[in-house]
Amino acid sequence: MAAFPKRVSVHAVQQDVQEADNDSGVYMNFMKSHCCYDAIPTSNKLVIFDTTLQVKKAFFALLANGLRAAPLWDNKLQRFVGMLTITDFINILHRYYRSPMVQIYELENHKIETWRDVYLHYSNHFLISISPEASLFDAIHSLLKYKIHRLPVIDPKSGNVLHILTHKRILRFLHIFGGMVSKPGFLQSSVQDLGIGTFQNIATVPQTASLYDALSIFVARRVSALPVVDEQGKVVALYSRFDVINLAAQKTYNDLDVSMQEVVRRRRGCFVEGVIKCYPDETLETVLERIVNAEVHRLVLVDRGTDVVRGIVSLSDLLQAMVLSPAGVYALKAS
Ligand code: ADP
Ligand code: ADP
Ligand code: AMP
Repeated sequence: MAAFPKRVSVHAVQQDVQEADNDSGVYMNFMKSHCCYDAIPTSNKLVIFDTTLQVKKAFFALLANGLRAAPLWDNKLQRFVGMLTITDFINILHRYYRSPMVQIYELENHKIETWRDVYLHYSNHFLISISPEASLFDAIHSLLKYKIHRLPVIDPKSGNVLHILTHKRILRFLHIFGGMVSKPGFLQSSVQDLGIGTFQNIATVPQTASLYDALSIFVARRVSALPVVDEQGKVVALYSRFDVINLAAQKTYNDLDVSMQEVVRRRRGCFVEGVIKCYPDETLETVLERIVNAEVHRLVLVDRGTDVVRGIVSLSDLLQAMVLSPAGVYALKAS
Protein backbone atom coordinates (compact mmCIF):
# COMPACT_ATOMS: atom_id res chain seq x y z
CA MET A 1 0.00 0.00 0.00
CA ALA A 2 1.23 3.51 -0.81
CA ALA A 3 2.34 5.76 2.07
CA PHE A 4 -0.68 7.60 3.43
CA PRO A 5 -1.53 10.33 2.98
CA LYS A 6 0.71 11.38 0.13
CA ARG A 7 2.67 14.59 0.66
CA VAL A 8 1.97 16.96 -2.17
CA SER A 9 5.23 18.88 -2.20
CA VAL A 10 8.66 17.88 -1.01
CA HIS A 11 9.54 21.58 -0.79
CA ALA A 12 6.96 22.34 1.89
CA VAL A 13 8.23 24.63 4.62
CA GLN A 14 8.44 23.21 8.14
CA GLN A 15 5.07 24.62 9.21
CA ASP A 16 3.30 23.03 6.23
CA VAL A 17 4.78 19.65 7.14
CA GLN A 18 3.55 20.08 10.70
CA GLU A 19 0.02 20.86 9.47
CA ALA A 20 0.05 17.91 7.10
CA ASP A 21 1.01 15.62 9.99
CA ASN A 22 -1.83 16.96 12.16
CA ASP A 23 -4.19 16.52 9.26
CA SER A 24 -3.17 12.93 8.60
CA GLY A 25 -3.38 12.06 12.29
CA VAL A 26 -6.95 13.25 12.86
CA TYR A 27 -8.59 9.80 12.83
CA MET A 28 -5.66 8.13 14.57
CA ASN A 29 -5.97 10.67 17.43
CA PHE A 30 -9.74 10.22 17.54
CA MET A 31 -9.38 6.45 17.91
CA LYS A 32 -6.60 6.80 20.48
CA SER A 33 -8.69 9.18 22.56
CA HIS A 34 -11.82 7.02 22.65
CA CYS A 35 -12.12 3.70 24.40
CA CYS A 36 -13.98 0.54 23.40
CA TYR A 37 -16.63 1.26 26.03
CA ASP A 38 -17.53 4.49 24.17
CA ALA A 39 -18.45 2.52 21.04
CA ILE A 40 -20.67 -0.01 22.82
CA PRO A 41 -24.41 0.53 22.30
CA THR A 42 -26.48 1.20 25.41
CA SER A 43 -28.46 -1.97 24.81
CA ASN A 44 -27.48 -5.00 22.74
CA LYS A 45 -28.27 -8.68 22.38
CA LEU A 46 -25.55 -11.21 23.12
CA VAL A 47 -25.80 -14.98 22.75
CA ILE A 48 -23.20 -17.25 24.32
CA PHE A 49 -22.72 -20.92 23.42
CA ASP A 50 -21.53 -23.68 25.70
CA THR A 51 -18.91 -25.73 23.85
CA THR A 52 -20.98 -28.90 24.40
CA LEU A 53 -23.78 -27.52 22.18
CA GLN A 54 -24.22 -29.26 18.81
CA VAL A 55 -22.79 -27.17 15.97
CA LYS A 56 -25.97 -27.38 13.91
CA LYS A 57 -28.07 -26.06 16.79
CA ALA A 58 -25.56 -23.27 17.31
CA PHE A 59 -25.78 -22.05 13.70
CA PHE A 60 -29.58 -22.19 13.80
CA ALA A 61 -29.48 -20.19 17.05
CA LEU A 62 -27.33 -17.52 15.37
CA LEU A 63 -29.84 -17.38 12.56
CA ALA A 64 -32.87 -17.27 14.86
CA ASN A 65 -31.34 -14.36 16.79
CA GLY A 66 -30.16 -12.46 13.72
CA LEU A 67 -26.55 -12.65 14.95
CA ARG A 68 -23.28 -13.26 13.12
CA ALA A 69 -21.13 -14.65 15.94
CA ALA A 70 -21.14 -15.85 19.55
CA PRO A 71 -18.47 -16.26 22.24
CA LEU A 72 -17.84 -19.85 23.35
CA TRP A 73 -17.95 -20.79 27.03
CA ASP A 74 -16.07 -23.84 28.29
CA ASN A 75 -17.83 -24.97 31.44
CA LYS A 76 -14.97 -27.22 32.54
CA LEU A 77 -12.42 -24.44 32.24
CA GLN A 78 -14.94 -21.81 33.43
CA ARG A 79 -13.81 -19.32 30.81
CA PHE A 80 -14.44 -18.11 27.27
CA VAL A 81 -12.29 -20.09 24.86
CA GLY A 82 -13.11 -18.71 21.41
CA MET A 83 -15.76 -17.54 18.98
CA LEU A 84 -18.17 -19.27 16.65
CA THR A 85 -18.70 -17.35 13.42
CA ILE A 86 -20.11 -17.98 9.95
CA THR A 87 -16.57 -18.77 8.83
CA ASP A 88 -16.78 -21.85 11.08
CA PHE A 89 -20.01 -22.88 9.35
CA ILE A 90 -18.23 -22.48 5.97
CA ASN A 91 -15.27 -24.54 7.16
CA ILE A 92 -17.52 -27.36 8.40
CA LEU A 93 -19.54 -27.48 5.17
CA HIS A 94 -16.40 -27.35 3.06
CA ARG A 95 -14.57 -30.03 4.99
CA TYR A 96 -17.37 -32.59 5.25
CA TYR A 97 -19.45 -32.08 2.10
CA ARG A 98 -19.47 -35.09 -0.22
CA SER A 99 -22.44 -34.85 -2.59
CA PRO A 100 -26.09 -33.75 -2.65
CA MET A 101 -27.01 -37.41 -2.01
CA VAL A 102 -25.10 -37.65 1.27
CA GLN A 103 -26.18 -35.86 4.42
CA ILE A 104 -23.38 -33.97 6.21
CA TYR A 105 -23.18 -36.31 9.21
CA GLU A 106 -20.65 -34.13 11.07
CA LEU A 107 -22.93 -31.09 10.93
CA GLU A 108 -25.73 -33.16 12.44
CA ASN A 109 -23.64 -34.74 15.18
CA HIS A 110 -20.55 -32.71 16.06
CA LYS A 111 -20.52 -30.68 19.20
CA ILE A 112 -18.73 -27.33 19.10
CA GLU A 113 -15.89 -28.83 21.18
CA THR A 114 -15.50 -31.78 18.77
CA TRP A 115 -15.25 -29.39 15.84
CA ARG A 116 -12.73 -27.21 17.66
CA ASP A 117 -10.53 -30.25 18.35
CA VAL A 118 -10.34 -30.82 14.58
CA TYR A 119 -10.13 -27.20 13.51
CA LEU A 120 -7.85 -25.61 16.08
CA HIS A 121 -4.88 -27.21 14.39
CA TYR A 122 -5.43 -24.59 11.66
CA SER A 123 -6.80 -21.59 13.48
CA ASN A 124 -6.63 -19.26 16.49
CA HIS A 125 -5.92 -21.26 19.65
CA PHE A 126 -7.12 -18.64 22.05
CA LEU A 127 -9.82 -16.04 22.39
CA ILE A 128 -8.75 -12.63 21.17
CA SER A 129 -10.54 -10.05 23.30
CA ILE A 130 -10.15 -6.49 24.52
CA SER A 131 -10.87 -4.57 27.69
CA PRO A 132 -13.54 -1.82 27.67
CA GLU A 133 -10.86 0.67 28.78
CA ALA A 134 -8.57 -0.09 25.85
CA SER A 135 -8.56 2.46 23.04
CA LEU A 136 -10.41 2.00 19.77
CA PHE A 137 -6.99 2.30 18.13
CA ASP A 138 -5.96 -0.91 19.93
CA ALA A 139 -9.24 -2.59 18.94
CA ILE A 140 -8.62 -1.77 15.27
CA HIS A 141 -5.07 -3.02 15.59
CA SER A 142 -6.27 -6.37 16.98
CA LEU A 143 -8.99 -6.80 14.33
CA LEU A 144 -6.52 -6.19 11.52
CA LYS A 145 -3.51 -7.96 12.99
CA TYR A 146 -5.37 -11.19 13.78
CA LYS A 147 -7.51 -10.95 10.60
CA ILE A 148 -10.74 -11.43 12.53
CA HIS A 149 -14.07 -9.63 12.21
CA ARG A 150 -15.40 -10.08 15.78
CA LEU A 151 -13.65 -8.70 18.86
CA PRO A 152 -15.36 -9.39 22.19
CA VAL A 153 -15.08 -6.63 24.77
CA ILE A 154 -14.60 -8.37 28.13
CA ASP A 155 -14.88 -6.68 31.50
CA PRO A 156 -11.66 -7.71 33.31
CA LYS A 157 -13.36 -7.58 36.73
CA SER A 158 -16.45 -9.72 36.07
CA GLY A 159 -15.13 -11.63 33.05
CA ASN A 160 -18.42 -10.84 31.25
CA VAL A 161 -18.60 -10.19 27.54
CA LEU A 162 -20.10 -6.70 27.15
CA HIS A 163 -20.25 -6.46 23.37
CA ILE A 164 -18.69 -7.79 20.19
CA LEU A 165 -16.92 -5.00 18.34
CA THR A 166 -16.66 -5.04 14.55
CA HIS A 167 -15.10 -2.81 11.90
CA LYS A 168 -18.62 -1.66 10.99
CA ARG A 169 -19.44 -0.58 14.52
CA ILE A 170 -16.17 1.34 14.88
CA LEU A 171 -16.54 3.14 11.55
CA ARG A 172 -20.15 4.02 12.34
CA PHE A 173 -18.99 5.46 15.69
CA LEU A 174 -16.47 7.59 13.80
CA HIS A 175 -19.15 8.64 11.34
CA ILE A 176 -21.49 9.78 14.11
CA PHE A 177 -18.99 11.46 16.43
CA GLY A 178 -16.04 12.17 14.11
CA GLY A 179 -17.87 15.27 12.82
CA MET A 180 -16.50 17.03 15.89
CA VAL A 181 -12.97 16.86 14.48
CA SER A 182 -11.92 18.97 11.50
CA LYS A 183 -12.22 17.29 8.10
CA PRO A 184 -8.76 16.30 6.88
CA GLY A 185 -7.78 17.40 3.37
CA PHE A 186 -7.00 13.88 2.17
CA LEU A 187 -10.76 13.07 2.18
CA GLN A 188 -10.86 14.89 -1.17
CA SER A 189 -8.19 12.65 -2.77
CA SER A 190 -9.26 9.65 -4.82
CA VAL A 191 -9.02 6.14 -3.36
CA GLN A 192 -6.74 5.29 -6.28
CA ASP A 193 -4.30 8.13 -5.52
CA LEU A 194 -4.33 7.25 -1.83
CA GLY A 195 -3.78 3.58 -2.65
CA ILE A 196 -6.60 2.44 -0.34
CA GLY A 197 -7.77 -1.11 -1.06
CA THR A 198 -6.55 -4.26 -2.73
CA PHE A 199 -5.95 -3.95 -6.47
CA GLN A 200 -4.17 -7.17 -7.35
CA ASN A 201 -4.98 -10.84 -7.19
CA ILE A 202 -8.66 -10.22 -6.43
CA ALA A 203 -10.51 -13.41 -5.47
CA THR A 204 -13.66 -13.62 -7.61
CA VAL A 205 -16.03 -16.46 -8.46
CA PRO A 206 -17.51 -17.05 -11.94
CA GLN A 207 -21.31 -17.18 -11.92
CA THR A 208 -21.07 -20.60 -13.59
CA ALA A 209 -18.98 -22.03 -10.71
CA SER A 210 -20.60 -24.13 -8.00
CA LEU A 211 -21.33 -22.99 -4.48
CA TYR A 212 -18.78 -25.55 -3.30
CA ASP A 213 -16.17 -23.79 -5.49
CA ALA A 214 -17.06 -20.49 -3.82
CA LEU A 215 -16.68 -22.05 -0.35
CA SER A 216 -13.29 -23.47 -1.44
CA ILE A 217 -12.15 -19.95 -2.36
CA PHE A 218 -13.33 -18.62 1.03
CA VAL A 219 -11.32 -21.34 2.76
CA ALA A 220 -8.18 -21.07 0.61
CA ARG A 221 -8.00 -17.26 0.33
CA ARG A 222 -9.60 -16.33 3.68
CA VAL A 223 -11.36 -13.38 2.03
CA SER A 224 -14.61 -12.04 3.46
CA ALA A 225 -16.50 -11.80 0.16
CA LEU A 226 -16.33 -12.72 -3.50
CA PRO A 227 -17.48 -10.60 -6.42
CA VAL A 228 -19.50 -12.95 -8.68
CA VAL A 229 -18.40 -12.27 -12.28
CA ASP A 230 -19.48 -13.05 -15.84
CA GLU A 231 -17.18 -14.23 -18.68
CA GLN A 232 -15.92 -10.65 -19.23
CA GLY A 233 -14.98 -10.20 -15.58
CA LYS A 234 -17.93 -7.85 -15.02
CA VAL A 235 -19.37 -7.97 -11.50
CA VAL A 236 -22.94 -9.29 -11.43
CA ALA A 237 -23.35 -9.92 -7.68
CA LEU A 238 -21.52 -9.98 -4.37
CA TYR A 239 -21.40 -13.14 -2.26
CA SER A 240 -20.18 -12.57 1.27
CA ARG A 241 -19.34 -15.07 4.04
CA PHE A 242 -22.41 -13.74 5.82
CA ASP A 243 -24.63 -14.97 2.95
CA VAL A 244 -23.61 -18.58 3.63
CA ILE A 245 -25.77 -18.64 6.79
CA ASN A 246 -28.67 -18.30 4.37
CA LEU A 247 -28.10 -21.98 3.51
CA ALA A 248 -29.12 -22.83 7.06
CA ALA A 249 -32.21 -20.61 6.77
CA GLN A 250 -33.22 -22.32 3.53
CA LYS A 251 -31.98 -25.76 4.72
CA THR A 252 -30.15 -26.08 1.40
CA TYR A 253 -26.65 -26.82 2.80
CA ASN A 254 -26.84 -30.42 1.64
CA ASP A 255 -26.58 -29.35 -2.02
CA LEU A 256 -23.43 -27.36 -2.66
CA ASP A 257 -23.22 -28.42 -6.33
CA VAL A 258 -25.71 -25.69 -7.26
CA SER A 259 -24.33 -22.85 -9.46
CA MET A 260 -23.56 -19.40 -8.08
CA GLN A 261 -26.06 -17.98 -10.54
CA GLU A 262 -28.76 -20.04 -8.83
CA VAL A 263 -27.50 -19.16 -5.33
CA VAL A 264 -27.71 -15.44 -6.16
CA ARG A 265 -31.16 -15.85 -7.73
CA ARG A 266 -32.50 -17.61 -4.60
CA ARG A 267 -31.09 -14.88 -2.38
CA ARG A 268 -32.89 -12.02 -4.18
CA GLY A 269 -35.01 -9.79 -2.00
CA CYS A 270 -33.38 -10.99 1.22
CA PHE A 271 -30.36 -8.72 1.54
CA VAL A 272 -28.71 -5.73 -0.11
CA GLU A 273 -30.05 -5.26 -3.66
CA GLY A 274 -27.45 -5.02 -6.43
CA VAL A 275 -23.72 -4.57 -5.97
CA ILE A 276 -22.43 -1.59 -4.01
CA LYS A 277 -19.47 -0.39 -6.05
CA CYS A 278 -16.97 2.42 -6.28
CA TYR A 279 -14.75 3.81 -9.01
CA PRO A 280 -11.00 4.45 -8.79
CA ASP A 281 -11.41 8.22 -9.28
CA GLU A 282 -13.97 8.67 -6.49
CA THR A 283 -12.85 10.54 -3.41
CA LEU A 284 -12.27 8.92 -0.05
CA GLU A 285 -15.11 11.04 1.35
CA THR A 286 -17.57 9.65 -1.24
CA VAL A 287 -16.43 6.09 -0.61
CA LEU A 288 -16.73 6.48 3.17
CA GLU A 289 -20.20 7.94 2.88
CA ARG A 290 -21.34 5.10 0.62
CA ILE A 291 -19.90 2.24 2.68
CA VAL A 292 -21.26 3.60 5.99
CA ASN A 293 -24.73 4.32 4.60
CA ALA A 294 -25.00 0.93 2.84
CA GLU A 295 -23.83 -0.82 6.05
CA VAL A 296 -21.65 -3.21 4.09
CA HIS A 297 -18.14 -4.40 4.85
CA ARG A 298 -16.64 -3.58 1.43
CA LEU A 299 -17.18 -1.90 -1.94
CA VAL A 300 -16.25 -3.56 -5.20
CA LEU A 301 -13.93 -1.28 -7.16
CA VAL A 302 -14.81 -1.43 -10.85
CA ASP A 303 -13.92 0.27 -14.13
CA ARG A 304 -16.36 3.01 -15.03
CA GLY A 305 -18.56 1.90 -17.90
CA THR A 306 -17.52 -1.77 -18.06
CA ASP A 307 -18.05 -2.78 -14.40
CA VAL A 308 -15.01 -5.07 -14.68
CA VAL A 309 -13.64 -5.82 -11.20
CA ARG A 310 -10.40 -3.96 -10.42
CA GLY A 311 -10.24 -4.15 -6.65
CA ILE A 312 -11.83 -4.30 -3.21
CA VAL A 313 -12.10 -1.42 -0.76
CA SER A 314 -12.92 -3.00 2.57
CA LEU A 315 -13.46 -1.48 6.02
CA SER A 316 -10.12 -3.06 6.96
CA ASP A 317 -8.39 -1.08 4.20
CA LEU A 318 -10.08 2.15 5.30
CA LEU A 319 -9.23 1.69 8.97
CA GLN A 320 -5.65 0.72 8.11
CA ALA A 321 -5.18 3.82 5.95
CA MET A 322 -7.05 6.34 8.12
CA VAL A 323 -6.07 5.16 11.60
CA LEU A 324 -3.10 2.76 11.70
CA SER A 325 -0.88 3.99 8.84
CA PRO A 326 -0.58 7.54 10.26
CA ALA A 327 0.84 5.90 13.40
CA GLY A 328 3.31 3.89 11.31
CA VAL A 329 1.49 0.64 12.18
CA TYR A 330 0.97 -1.70 9.21
CA ALA A 331 -1.15 -4.58 10.53
CA LEU A 332 -3.24 -5.45 7.50
CA LYS A 333 -0.76 -6.59 4.89
CA ALA A 334 1.79 -7.93 7.36
CA SER A 335 1.74 -11.73 7.22
P1 ADP B 1 -16.65 -13.97 10.11
O1 ADP B 1 -16.13 -13.04 9.05
O2 ADP B 1 -17.28 -15.20 9.56
O3 ADP B 1 -17.48 -13.32 11.16
P2 ADP B 1 -14.03 -14.03 11.44
O4 ADP B 1 -13.15 -13.51 10.35
O5 ADP B 1 -14.22 -13.12 12.61
O6 ADP B 1 -15.40 -14.58 10.87
O7 ADP B 1 -13.46 -15.42 11.99
C1 ADP B 1 -12.43 -16.17 11.36
C2 ADP B 1 -12.05 -17.33 12.31
O8 ADP B 1 -11.48 -16.79 13.50
C3 ADP B 1 -13.25 -18.18 12.76
O9 ADP B 1 -12.84 -19.53 12.86
C4 ADP B 1 -13.59 -17.64 14.14
O10 ADP B 1 -14.14 -18.63 15.00
C5 ADP B 1 -12.25 -17.15 14.64
N1 ADP B 1 -12.40 -15.96 15.48
C6 ADP B 1 -13.15 -14.87 15.19
N2 ADP B 1 -13.05 -13.96 16.18
C7 ADP B 1 -12.22 -14.48 17.10
C8 ADP B 1 -11.71 -14.01 18.37
N3 ADP B 1 -12.05 -12.82 18.87
N4 ADP B 1 -10.85 -14.82 19.04
C9 ADP B 1 -10.49 -16.01 18.54
N5 ADP B 1 -10.93 -16.52 17.39
C10 ADP B 1 -11.78 -15.76 16.65
P1 ADP C 1 -20.92 -8.55 7.92
O1 ADP C 1 -21.81 -7.54 8.59
O2 ADP C 1 -21.02 -9.90 8.50
O3 ADP C 1 -19.52 -8.04 7.74
P2 ADP C 1 -21.27 -8.15 5.07
O4 ADP C 1 -21.21 -6.67 5.04
O5 ADP C 1 -20.14 -8.90 4.46
O6 ADP C 1 -21.56 -8.72 6.51
O7 ADP C 1 -22.61 -8.64 4.35
C1 ADP C 1 -23.90 -8.28 4.78
C2 ADP C 1 -24.83 -8.38 3.56
O8 ADP C 1 -24.52 -7.31 2.67
C3 ADP C 1 -24.67 -9.68 2.75
O9 ADP C 1 -25.92 -10.10 2.28
C4 ADP C 1 -23.79 -9.26 1.59
O10 ADP C 1 -24.00 -10.01 0.39
C5 ADP C 1 -24.21 -7.82 1.39
N1 ADP C 1 -23.09 -7.05 0.85
C6 ADP C 1 -21.91 -6.82 1.46
N2 ADP C 1 -21.11 -6.06 0.69
C7 ADP C 1 -21.82 -5.78 -0.44
C8 ADP C 1 -21.58 -5.03 -1.64
N3 ADP C 1 -20.44 -4.36 -1.83
N4 ADP C 1 -22.56 -5.01 -2.57
C9 ADP C 1 -23.72 -5.65 -2.40
N5 ADP C 1 -24.02 -6.37 -1.30
C10 ADP C 1 -23.09 -6.43 -0.34
P1 AMP D 1 -11.70 -7.93 4.99
O1 AMP D 1 -11.52 -9.35 5.42
O2 AMP D 1 -12.78 -7.72 3.99
O3 AMP D 1 -11.80 -7.00 6.15
O4 AMP D 1 -10.38 -7.53 4.18
C1 AMP D 1 -9.05 -7.87 4.55
C2 AMP D 1 -8.15 -7.57 3.33
O5 AMP D 1 -8.50 -8.49 2.29
C3 AMP D 1 -8.34 -6.17 2.76
O6 AMP D 1 -7.07 -5.65 2.34
C4 AMP D 1 -9.22 -6.37 1.55
O7 AMP D 1 -9.03 -5.41 0.51
C5 AMP D 1 -8.79 -7.75 1.09
N1 AMP D 1 -9.86 -8.46 0.38
C6 AMP D 1 -11.16 -8.58 0.77
N2 AMP D 1 -11.86 -9.30 -0.14
C7 AMP D 1 -10.98 -9.64 -1.11
C8 AMP D 1 -11.06 -10.38 -2.35
N3 AMP D 1 -12.23 -10.92 -2.75
N4 AMP D 1 -9.93 -10.54 -3.08
C9 AMP D 1 -8.76 -10.00 -2.68
N5 AMP D 1 -8.61 -9.30 -1.55
C10 AMP D 1 -9.70 -9.11 -0.77
